[in-house]
Amino acid sequence: MLNIKVFVFNGLSENTFVLYNAKGQCVIVDAGNSNKTEDEMIFKFIDDNHLTPLMLLSTHLHIDHVLGNYSLNKRYGISLAAYPVDKEYIMGVWRYAGVFGIDVDENNYIFPEIELSENEVIKVGEDYIKVLYTPGHALGHVCFYDEADGFVLTGDTLFYRSVGRYDFPGGSYKELENSVRNCLYKLPDNTVCYPGHGRSTTIGDEKVYNHVIPLR
Ligand SMILES: [Zn+2]
Repeated sequence: MLNIKVFVFNGLSENTFVLYNAKGQCVIVDAGNSNKTEDEMIFKFIDDNHLTPLMLLSTHLHIDHVLGNYSLNKRYGISLAAYPVDKEYIMGVWRYAGVFGIDVDENNYIFPEIELSENEVIKVGEDYIKVLYTPGHALGHVCFYDEADGFVLTGDTLFYRSVGRYDFPGGSYKELENSVRNCLYKLPDNTVCYPGHGRSTTIGDEKVYNHVIPLR
């Protein structure tokens, strides 16, 4: 079983997740810690609980979802796994930081070393996380689905009563709608969704109450 610890970091209220099992193995998804204080918060949680980080995971490589990867990589020596997108795209996103009011050191980033593929299964000890390919909000956007525990990390694809923006470079409403309708809404209704921003919800609730893409 994977337990979930959520941190809400930076001015954009980005949700950072630590998924960990009873043996203390963990992965960190969408590390958004962006300064020393936030770094210490996540380090303290990992160290106090004697967790062993295995890997960094990204739903997508927008700036608010990758800010913490550098410090976690330095401290724990873990690599970043993400769906492959070209380096130009990553650098472009990094240069956007100022637009979002985030002050970053331009050297403090890491590139993904591990390429995720659609429907790949990531092992965390005896637990499994499936990679769902869900483009539309960003190039190479994926969601992380833990079928056994009944939850999915939806990144910036599906939010509580809403969906992610599709007007950034690499975004597409058509693709986003397809990802939500034909991938996420095919999951069991009682699957709990933990988005990249805001509160959690369920697939069943969003099918009915989502303001942008209800299931009709
Ligand atoms: Zn995003």
